[in-house]
Formats: sequence, C-alpha cells, structure tokens
Amino acid sequence: MKIIADLHTHTVASTHAYSTLQEMVTAASQMGLSAIAVTDHGVEMPGAPKAGTWYFSNLRSIPHLYHGILVLRGQETNVLNLEGKIDLEKEAEPWMDWVVASIHPPCFQSEEKQNDVTSAWRGIAENPAVNVIGHCGDPRFPFDYEKMIPIFRDAGKLIELNEATFSVRSQSVSNCKKIMQLCKKYSAPIVVNSDSHFSANVGKFPKALALLQELNFPEELIINSNIERFKKYLQCYTRVFEDHALSEGGF
Ligand SMILES: [Zn+2]
Ligand SMILES: [Zn+2]
Repeated sequence: MKIIADLHTHTVASTHAYSTLQEMVTAASQMGLSAIAVTDHGVEMPGAPKAGTWYFSNLRSIPHLYHGILVLRGQETNVLNLEGKIDLEKEAEPWMDWVVASIHPPCFQSEEKQNDVTSAWRGIAENPAVNVIGHCGDPRFPFDYEKMIPIFRDAGKLIELNEATFSVRSQSVSNCKKIMQLCKKYSAPIVVNSDSHFSANVGKFPKALALLQELNFPEELIINSNIERFKKYLQCYTRVFEDHALSEGGF
C-alpha cells in the first residue's frame, strides 16, 4: 500500500517548523506523492503565523498545481473549548481547501475537572469547515470513541493517524490503536499524515503503516491511499475543483 498525499504538514510560517513551502512541495514531488496539504497552525498556537488572517487568506497566491503536485491551502486549526470553537478566522475560511482540527494543550480552555472532550469533538463534527480530526488519541483529552467515531464517519470527517505521534506523543499510541480498531469496526474513513515540521519527513509514515498492517486495516477506508478515492472525497467535501487549472493540468 502506498500513501499518495500527505495532508498535514507545516512550514516556516509556524516558527517551530523549519522548511519553506517550496521545500515541502519539492520533497512531496521527490517522494512521488500526488498531493500535499500545507496546514500551518491557527493563530492561538504559540509560534503561529503572526497576522494570521493575512497569512491564511493570501494562501490563494499559491497555485493549486505546482510541479505537478496538488497543493491544498490549509490550516491546522485549534480546538479551543468544550463547545468545539476553533480559531479559523471568518476572513480566512473562504480560502481554505483543507482544515485539520486538533487539540493542543496551550490552546484548549476548560474549567471542568474531568477533561472529557466528547462535547468539543461533537461541535467539530458539526462544523462544515473541518475535514480532519487531528491526532486525537492524546490521553490528556479523552473522549467517547465508541460514540464519536460513527458521528465523524456520518459527518464526512476523516480520522487522522499521525506519524509524528509515534515520536512526539508516544503516550497517545495505545489510544491511537484503539481508535483505529474502532474505525475498522464502524467503517469510518481515515487519513495517514506525517505532520512534518521539516521537509525530510514529508511522505514518510513507517510506524503508522506498520500499525495499520498489524490491525489488518481495510485499505478502502484509507482515503489517501488511492488517487481516485482521494479525488472523490475532495469533490464531495471541498471546493478545490472549482479551480479549473486542476482539470486542465490533468489532476
Ligand atoms: Zn498538532
Ligand atoms: Zn501539526
């Protein structure tokens, strides 16, 4: 099995990432990918692009098709509270092709003692701007997996298996395994992403793919393991094909 699109990556616009967008796209091309989503952090994250509205709105200056690769203009938006509020700004939203919603400890506010975040994810499931449920296995933010995974499936949200989790959030791995088992049980579609903060990691998913193999995970549920399946998702849930340059470019 081959992953054909890396749909969660960061550039120097997030100041704790170290490659330019050009370098990330070049790396995607060298890895033989068909697409990359550039998803720098929403404004509430330390090190997010300053003047975020200007940065995210002006992503439209990047061609969708560059060096033969589909470049999705995106954001890793922060889930901010138990209602599922996010920091994607209204002015930027119309220009976004691809939104990954993630909970990051510095950005999440809750007064509850029990930090169950089921209600936050329910709010995200209802938000049409969001495509991907980002690295959601963090044990600091538990939620009712059995309840939410079918809700994500029915809402067209893709549940992410994030390669970086295996190195930077290793305490999440056992939950990620449970989540993937439930995605299999409920036929909920997923995406495999690198969450690269440096170009050398683009398109590399060895630990994520090994976990899926161990679980005998059905390939047809991995949206970014097949170009036709991925295009079908884009047609249903994004506006990216309104850009005719893509069909003219053969994508
Ligand atoms: Zn993240
Ligand atoms: Zn990220």
